[in-house]
Amino acid sequence: MTDRWIRNAVGGELVEPDERAFDAVDPVDGRVFARVHEADADLVDRAVSAARAALDGGWGGWRPAARAELLRRVADRIEERAEEFVAAEVADTGKPVDEARRLDVARAVANFRTFAGIATEAGQPSFLTDLPDGRQALNYAVRSPLGVVAVIVPWNLPLLLLTWKVAPALGCGNAVVVKPSEETPSTATLLAEVLAECGLPSGAYNVVHGFGVGSAGEFLVRHPGVDGVTFTGSSATGSAIMRDVAPRVRPVSFELGGKNAALVFADADLDLTIAGLTRSVFANTGQVCLCTERVYVQRPIFDEVAGRLADAARGLRLGRPQDPRTTTGPLISAGHRDKVLSYYRAAADSGATLLAGGGVPALGSELDSGWWIEPTLWSGLTNADRPVREEIFGPVAALIPFDTEQEAVALANDTEYGLAAAVWTTDLSRGHRVAQRMRVGISWVNTWFLRDLRSPFGGRGLSGIGREGGEFSADFYTELTNVCVQI
Ligand code: NAD
Repeated sequence: MTDRWIRNAVGGELVEPDERAFDAVDPVDGRVFARVHEADADLVDRAVSAARAALDGGWGGWRPAARAELLRRVADRIEERAEEFVAAEVADTGKPVDEARRLDVARAVANFRTFAGIATEAGQPSFLTDLPDGRQALNYAVRSPLGVVAVIVPWNLPLLLLTWKVAPALGCGNAVVVKPSEETPSTATLLAEVLAECGLPSGAYNVVHGFGVGSAGEFLVRHPGVDGVTFTGSSATGSAIMRDVAPRVRPVSFELGGKNAALVFADADLDLTIAGLTRSVFANTGQVCLCTERVYVQRPIFDEVAGRLADAARGLRLGRPQDPRTTTGPLISAGHRDKVLSYYRAAADSGATLLAGGGVPALGSELDSGWWIEPTLWSGLTNADRPVREEIFGPVAALIPFDTEQEAVALANDTEYGLAAAVWTTDLSRGHRVAQRMRVGISWVNTWFLRDLRSPFGGRGLSGIGREGGEFSADFYTELTNVCVQI
């Protein structure tokens, strides 16, 4: 039993645990390393009230430049306390230490730096209107904060995805109530400490821990004091949240699931492509919304790509996060592994050929109580098979041959999701042409997960509603009031 507690942060205080609590479990070995205080409806209500009070009080009066200065200090302070964030993220997720350092914590710092000046950088439209009588009117729009923003995030990149929303929300002058995933509670509470150290007024950032339905997540999105919901997670949860906010008609920004395609043309640079696919299929044990789960390969190079990617899959090293040779961590939970394994069985039932993996590895007595799974590749499936249609969210992809560019585009777009795609080709024109024809929010050519935080990010169809990033974040986290002046 552990005596470590992860607390809620409400109105500038870390709230002491009461009887509602759940375990924080290390996915590496299934060990309970902390207890998490679960917020009940009353505590969620206190958090929303604290956020409203911050808006009505000191925080609401801060000038954009002062907010920007504070958020830059936050970036610096996360860098200073980086190893604490790394340790917290690793304990929650089991991901390799180096990955947590280079990706998760580095991006948290970048999120605060990029969005610090969002309120001063985002322009506002203005129009000089010619009237029939020869006079003019000036229309200009001014931005004000959206208000109290509910931020609900998943477990796969906890700090990265949290700060991607919290930084622009605070930069635009909002107050937030954050509900991190029940699987990964640590870094949201640690961030509360850092924000307070840097001088954020109490109540501007609140954390409520718990689950979705019947718990903190649902209490928060249904709360009448919430002015908007920004959510990253599964499409099914997005749909439930939409229903919950519908009676009050609040704005939502949704970054949801994906079933992302890679298209590999016969003219591709294969060294670059195999390295790129190895990342895009297996990064974070396949638990990135942008990960590739469908690889369409032009027929003349199908066997070579299949063979080389399978070698790369077998070359991944599963192990403890602290071991520098480890490339791949476990899945997040027993429940999630059951889900991924159900797709491994479904693929076998559909007659898939296993190119690599396919089961649970034996890693020795210490690790066998964790949620490990083998990186897996299939051939022999088609777009009609369930493992090729539904998001699995594990280290797995199906390889499917195609003959023509037109066929590849049709196969890639044959999905209800629309998050990301990656095109691998040395033909410049083909790269642009095919990337533009992908029905997705982000379309890469000869790369993957390369992000400029000023560019729009989001998905179509089941993959989301709206875009965040740069001025698109400003559009969600502010309301526009058009002022019309008769001159
Ligand atoms: P999830 O939808 O199960 O949970 C996400 C969050 O929502 C958690 O904090 C959870 O407690 C909360 N929640 C669940 N039900 C709720 C409800 N009814 N009301 C309010 N809150 C509720 O997702 P997950 O399993 O944590 O994350 C994996 C999913 O997230 C995958 O589908 C993945 O593709 C998606 N994702 C998308 C992006 C993106 O940018 N598009 C990024 C990362 C992850």
